Amino acid sequence: MNTFHGGIHPDGHKTATASKPICDLKPPTELVFPVSQHIGAPAKPCVKVGDRVLMGQKIAEAGGFVSANIHSSVSGTVKAIENRLHPNGVSMECIIIENDGLDEKAPPLENSGGDYTKKTPAEIIDIVREAGIVGMGGATFPTHVKLSVPKEAKIDHIIINGAECEPYLTSDHRAMLETTDDIIGGILILMHIFGLNDGYIGIEDNKPDAIAHMSEAAKKVSDKNIHIVPLKTKYPQGAEKQLIFAVTGRKMAPGTLPWQSGCIVNNIDTCASIFRAVANGEPVIRRIVTLSGDAIASPSNLRVRLGSSFSYLIEESGGFSQDTAKILMGGPMMGMAVPNTSVPVIKGTSGIVALGAESSKFEQESACIRCAKCVYACPMNLQPNLLDMAARRDDMCTLEKLYINDCIECGSCAFVCPSKRRQVQQIKTAKAKLRDLAKAAKA
Ligand code: SF4
Ligand code: SF4
Repeated sequence: MNTFHGGIHPDGHKTATASKPICDLKPPTELVFPVSQHIGAPAKPCVKVGDRVLMGQKIAEAGGFVSANIHSSVSGTVKAIENRLHPNGVSMECIIIENDGLDEKAPPLENSGGDYTKKTPAEIIDIVREAGIVGMGGATFPTHVKLSVPKEAKIDHIIINGAECEPYLTSDHRAMLETTDDIIGGILILMHIFGLNDGYIGIEDNKPDAIAHMSEAAKKVSDKNIHIVPLKTKYPQGAEKQLIFAVTGRKMAPGTLPWQSGCIVNNIDTCASIFRAVANGEPVIRRIVTLSGDAIASPSNLRVRLGSSFSYLIEESGGFSQDTAKILMGGPMMGMAVPNTSVPVIKGTSGIVALGAESSKFEQESACIRCAKCVYACPMNLQPNLLDMAARRDDMCTLEKLYINDCIECGSCAFVCPSKRRQVQQIKTAKAKLRDLAKAAKA
């Protein structure tokens, strides 16, 4: 079975939602769109207070090449442009839209529709850019940037990430079962961009129904080869480097990007969004969100409009079943704790996980006993114990020698540590300090 070195086997907690079909949630009366829902420069509002906007209309323009447009998910009126809380806890500029309930649509994206095989790669990438597509698995890197590889790049593998290894999340699983044609359409468009006859969809073997369903759909494509690659169920199987190794056997050198290994990797929902943009002219205004955790009364998979608040999703689905100790955007391994439930669903909100006191107990750290469990678990072949210690003594030189920037912050080391060391937290803080030092040196 295809897999990678290291990794862990956390409890999947997926049974609560894996068999629940995606349910369409009507949009709330007020929607909040932070100007930063992606990696890169924040977008710049291109509407003003009082403007009427249509569903799918661009309301904020990408603030640079590495940035993404933002579109209104409803028709209505721009009520305010003011600072509101982002899921990451930072107060930032947001466009607030009052929903008129009409869902009056903006025209489709320019140059979309028709036969995609007649479009040039540049034309397709332009539609993807205009649609504001970013890594929908949570990474939120702008997709048009990922597709704009240097001329010398030799891309021979398009890989779609259907691993969904993060506990609790089942939105990609349901997407593979329920939006199969969009995913197949998306991978064919990606293969066309790079002139390839073969494409690969990696799926963890804990989703046999998705493997069977996607395999059936792939068989129906007569003129191209779409390979469904079953992957061993192991965290972090969906991390880019680990997925590339599992599918191709290629090891990415430290500090390199997937295109340097001949690969372009996109998440399942990103792939489907590419199809919807190119074929139907739809920008990113909705996404599938898994609502789960032991504090959620009725766990579900919801298709929601971007800008809907977490509290709206939770209330509409039956509320909490107990007091919450922690609410996460994304899963418990790589997700982030949100400050409160007023924050909006953004492009990277693959899940909302609400945990009660029992499942989010604080565990006291103790001294490292040098058991090396973290070293065996690290999928990047790093030495998390040494990184942790060097970070605590601000030893920047050692941190660099230990390849701190190769850490993908997967949390496998902390998961296996019997001393409950918080290595990832230390590594993240040290990385930020190193970035600040580099900036200062440059200045
Ligand atoms: S050191 Fe980084 S990459 Fe390695 S297990 Fe820890 S968090 Fe994951
Ligand atoms: S797992 Fe924890 S205790 Fe064991 S070597 Fe790593 S940091 Fe030390």
